Amino acid sequence: MATKLLITFAICRLIVTVGLTLDPTELLRLAVEGQLSLDPSDLETASLDFGMMGRAKPLAVLHPASAEDIVRLVRAAYGSALGFSVSARGHGHSINGQAQTTKGVVIEMSGSSKGRGTQGGYGSKPALMLPRVSETKRYVDVWGGELWIDVLRSTMEHGLAPKSWTDYLYLSVGGTLSNAGISGQAFNHGPQIANVHELDVVTGKGELFTCSENQNSELFHAVLGGLGQFGIITRARIALEPAPQRVRWIRVLYSNFSAFTKDQEFLISLHGQPSSKKFDYVEGFVIVDEGLINNWRSSFFSPHNPVKISSINSNGGVLYCLEITKNYHESTSDTIDQEIEALLKKLDFIPTSVFTTDLPYVDFLDRVHKAELKLRSKGLWDVPHPWLNLFIPKSKISDFDKGVFKGILGNKTSGPILIYPMNKEKWDQRSSVVTPDEEVFYLVAFLRSALDSGDETQSLDYLTNQNRQILRFCDDAGINAKQYLPHYTTQEEWLDHFGDKWAQFYQRKMEFDPRRILAAGQRIFNPTP
Ligand code: FAD
Repeated sequence: MATKLLITFAICRLIVTVGLTLDPTELLRLAVEGQLSLDPSDLETASLDFGMMGRAKPLAVLHPASAEDIVRLVRAAYGSALGFSVSARGHGHSINGQAQTTKGVVIEMSGSSKGRGTQGGYGSKPALMLPRVSETKRYVDVWGGELWIDVLRSTMEHGLAPKSWTDYLYLSVGGTLSNAGISGQAFNHGPQIANVHELDVVTGKGELFTCSENQNSELFHAVLGGLGQFGIITRARIALEPAPQRVRWIRVLYSNFSAFTKDQEFLISLHGQPSSKKFDYVEGFVIVDEGLINNWRSSFFSPHNPVKISSINSNGGVLYCLEITKNYHESTSDTIDQEIEALLKKLDFIPTSVFTTDLPYVDFLDRVHKAELKLRSKGLWDVPHPWLNLFIPKSKISDFDKGVFKGILGNKTSGPILIYPMNKEKWDQRSSVVTPDEEVFYLVAFLRSALDSGDETQSLDYLTNQNRQILRFCDDAGINAKQYLPHYTTQEEWLDHFGDKWAQFYQRKMEFDPRRILAAGQRIFNPTP
């Protein structure tokens, strides 16, 4: 330990004496077990994200071999007179450069082509990073950069699975826990941040702490939904449940928005009921045009389906699709039909519009990846993604429908629009995440792809401008929307976003990252020299 501290101290001194600008090659002298890289391809990867709307090249990239490597790097940054920032990058699936930095080092938490599990690059994935399942206590310990798909694969070997998900599994544990991690299970289990027992976190001072409800609880709650501002998650202990075997996946359509939201709200109100009396997943989406056929949620409405949307939507208006699932084991499959029937009877959808499919649990959870592969094959995945994710209070969702779905959007969407309600009681208010001030609120997600197709309404400019229009409409109509995966460029906007939570957020920052080294790409704080 003493030797490590001495090495770190020497590196800090070294960086201090480098001169007024930090010379990236000096970073290579930092003693790490993994690899500090100036390789142009590493810098290029770290300078991009899924949004593909901005590029920011770091000074260097760290492929860590352990949490200790991260401690060493952050300590060096913390002790540096010049100051350089450190950004953890999970799978780089942010939209607006949240995992990037130009004035520092990006830590590739989820590995790269050189790293994970290979004998090349910085070596084999260390044993420390492999998921460890406790069958008796029903949890799994995972490396912060682990992708959820790999968490699922390893827990399934024990017949267990995490309870709360995102729609897409090629995201890192640290990345989704820094936001919230939501999908159709959130009404039942809360977001992913409500399903974590314990974390190991490297703070902005380069200290490694284990934290939980009972131990270093301030850090624990700060980091969950904390946009990477307070520490780098190196390990997370995730709650598990017995894994279902199969999923009955149902979609039904509505032309009446209030009938749609009434049913969604009814379904999430059943969260306290025994599992036989509720669905396991409640989501939904908006269909404003035939674009649905081209987007990554359309596979369900396959050409084999007997019912055509156009035959239902005879007046060409907006349609709403409720998406629900029921998990089951083959041993209980005899009761599943009656349970679903009893629930569907209470809903008010268009009777001829029931689309049902049945598939293995893992295939359901991994559904978006299938669509990703299709889009990739058509060159439609690596394109700019001007996404906008909003939490809308229940009391304003109908105003939002009129103003946005039936107004601003026209009849073009350029991607799926998700809409589903969640209940605030499942969200721990001690975490850093911000939600609207109402018991029930909706996620509305505009997941658009900008294309260079010659059609102006698909261009990046057009869609970015439309996002602005939607935000302006929310302000003007007093909707009190909160951005999920928030993106702001001024501190005034951040203050407004956090509202009552700002004072606590700021205080936590001063305590855990006083030099504002971490996750500068969120643009909440400027690093201090
Ligand atoms: P990155 O983009 O790499 O990082 C995001 C932020 O977290 C950065 O500020 C980064 O510095 C910080 N960070 C990363 N790792 C760590 C760590 N170990 N410790 C501390 N901070 C860290 N979200 C949902 O909630 N539900 C969904 O259904 C959903 N679906 C999605 C589908 C797609 C196709 C995409 C592209 C995104 C989706 N998201 C969804 C959003 C996603 O959860 C966030 O963008 C998330 O941050 C991505 O994870 P990542 O590992 O790529 O994070």
